Amino acid sequence: MKATLHHVDTLTDSIKTFWFEPEQPLRFTAGQYTELYLPHDNPDDRGERRWFTISSSPTKELFSITTKYAAEKPSTFKQALFAMQPGDQADAAEAMGDFVLPKLAQTPLVFVAGGIGLTPFHSMFEWLADTGERRDINFLYAVRSEDDIVFQDTFERADIHATIVIGEPSPDWGGLSGRLTADTIQNYGNISDDALVYISGPEGMIETLKNDLIKAGVKKQQVVTDDFPGYTSL
Ligand SMILES: Cc1cc2nc3c(=O)[nH]c(=O)nc-3n(C[C@H](O)[C@H](O)[C@H](O)COP(=O)(O)OP(=O)(O)OC[C@H]3O[C@@H](n4cnc5c(N)ncnc54)[C@H](O)[C@@H]3O)c2cc1C
Repeated sequence: MKATLHHVDTLTDSIKTFWFEPEQPLRFTAGQYTELYLPHDNPDDRGERRWFTISSSPTKELFSITTKYAAEKPSTFKQALFAMQPGDQADAAEAMGDFVLPKLAQTPLVFVAGGIGLTPFHSMFEWLADTGERRDINFLYAVRSEDDIVFQDTFERADIHATIVIGEPSPDWGGLSGRLTADTIQNYGNISDDALVYISGPEGMIETLKNDLIKAGVKKQQVVTDDFPGYTSL
């Protein structure tokens, strides 16, 4: 369906949220994704379509996607997206995906986000804040630097404590630093036998964390993943 760009929020130097007005209401569950088709001149070999998690909550009339502009060699798709002006149109596919909150509200949850992999959790947090529903969530969020942290106001609104791990921190950073590992998730995530561990982020990071968690004794069926191909690092 046609989706008209309504406005853009600048979150950091490289991360923006694009808000679209859909032609008809876009029905989705927090955590699902859509495919955006953005025709543009001289597309590179990566083409004119991309999958994006819907970063907004289903409670909103507009829907948003949140994405990053690569410092080196941005694709023509990203160049076209970041050049869009309010009123410009793209095409959005029906929402899909099963990286959504479990039906059983009592299930303890450990959420792990790597960089822009935060988007499905942001949609869930916004939905929880808007509906007043409570879930038992331990949230870990890994980013490269303090400047890459986004959506902190939503964590507060949804009453979610974030354990933030900074890859390359400034000297002033007093929290966790270095690479986010399965050990960190176990130490701070408090994974009980009935918990589900949701991991979202770059493909490589997800594979490593999933394998290491399973090696450390977490059951395979406890780990739910959402990988973002196209990003090699946070
Ligand atoms: C289910 C799902 C949900 C997703 N949700 C999101 C989301 O919420 N937000 C989001 O940002 N992404 C999301 N993605 C990933 C998204 O679809 C893109 O793959 C990603 O944003 C990278 O975009 P891009 O290909 O335009 O590359 P860019 O963002 O332009 O670049 C990414 C990296 O690839 C390098 N690169 C660029 N061109 C090439 C090339 N031709 N060959 C090799 N390397 C190149 C760049 O230098 C950069 O390091 C999701 C993917 C899936 C499958």
